[in-house]
Amino acid sequence: MITEKNKKIFAEDADTLISEAMALFKGNRDLAERYSLIAHNILTSHSIKFGRRKLFVCKRCGHLLVPGYTANIRLINGKIKYKCLNCGKTISIVYDKRI
Ligand SMILES: [Zn+2]
Repeated sequence: MITEKNKKIFAEDADTLISEAMALFKGNRDLAERYSLIAHNILTSHSIKFGRRKLFVCKRCGHLLVPGYTANIRLINGKIKYKCLNCGKTISIVYDKRI
């Protein structure tokens, strides 16, 4: 049974996998992609919200998003646009242009 406590544990596991994947990306890219796919499976199968994790793992295909390697980042009309180079999904985050 999935309770809030279990969801918190699954989210921590996914965070650990994502941080390990980001650390491994330069050395062993295949293992990093595998870690991010496992994290994506954990998050989607237990219907846990991505939140800030969507900046590191693509919500559609589960690949790791590393700027310059597997993702493009553009600043357009006050939004930061992340584009996954594997599937083409874009996410946008509003930023404050006054800074
Ligand atoms: Zn993708």
